[in-house]
Amino acid sequence: MDLRVTVEVVTREQWGAVAPRCWDTLTCPAQRVVIHHTALLHCGGIRECIDQLIHIQTMHMQDRNFDDIGYNFLAFAAFLLGEIAQCIGANGFRFSVSDQSPSPAALSSVKQLLQCGVSQGHLHPGFTLHGHRDLGDTECPGDGLYAALKHLKFP
Ligand SMILES: [Zn+2]
Repeated sequence: MDLRVTVEVVTREQWGAVAPRCWDTLTCPAQRVVIHHTALLHCGGIRECIDQLIHIQTMHMQDRNFDDIGYNFLAFAAFLLGEIAQCIGANGFRFSVSDQSPSPAALSSVKQLLQCGVSQGHLHPGFTLHGHRDLGDTECPGDGLYAALKHLKFP
């Protein structure tokens, strides 16, 4: 799968992810996409984004006892970091966007990746898009990002 046709994706190997404790294989095409937000500092370049991503993975695996970082993709302003092969949760993608009021560039990156996922058969054309709050007792992904989700839908 070459997502770099339409979006710039930094793979796990490129950002130096540690190996997951275990993994599952995504059943394709995925039926739903769940959007989270991640409270991070603004990162001015890819090196700063990667440093924060490593911090998130460490926090998830050490503090929360997850088997891996909890997202399939993480969108910074102009980058998508992640890899589709690692999947936590059945039959869905988990995205995180690095701000509760995301930049148009971050939203555009997520939208392009979703379109790419559909066009390559990894996402069902009729997939459902959720904010985390739709599925659990949480404010995530924040009011700003939750309101912006409608801009991620496409025909
Ligand atoms: Zn969340």
